[in-house]
Amino acid sequence: FMSHRVAILSSHFSPVSAVMASEKEAALAATPSDSPTIFDKIISKEIPSTVVYEDDKVLAFRDITPQGPIHILLIPKVRDGLTGLSKAEERHIDILGRLLYTAKLVAKQEGLDEGFRIVINDGPQGCQSVYHIHVHLIGGRQMNWPPG
Ligand code: AMP
Repeated sequence: FMSHRVAILSSHFSPVSAVMASEKEAALAATPSDSPTIFDKIISKEIPSTVVYEDDKVLAFRDITPQGPIHILLIPKVRDGLTGLSKAEERHIDILGRLLYTAKLVAKQEGLDEGFRIVINDGPQGCQSVYHIHVHLIGGRQMNWPPG
């Protein structure tokens, strides 16, 4: 994988599009599964992250590859089968609402008074790379539509 990445970097792609291409590749390479993910280690603090909000159900931390001046991921501390939104069942309605409501609180906390973008990637075609549901909160710059 690394040598492939180096090959991309040394080709005609600019570094920015190389990063974007490799994230898409990472998403396409990720197999949807129920296996533990890196987010379990972020929840247990085995892997460091910059936590911006935490309660008993939700953890919010800065994305390691920010797509804007502010880029935060909100995740349920207990995955409970929610590898992605497409796996949602009725029992998840409370945590799904809580994730969105917490995103609003964190947006306020981060000073995103002019607006922000919420994204939930699902599955290979949605460019999901980590199979523990997460809400992206992105802001601090003008967003574009349609998304890429
Ligand atoms: P997605 O592509 O929607 O599955 O989003 C996964 C996100 O997790 C990406 O934006 C990654 O940059 C982010 N990510 C992966 N590993 C980490 C980490 N250790 N700390 C913070 N963010 C991470």
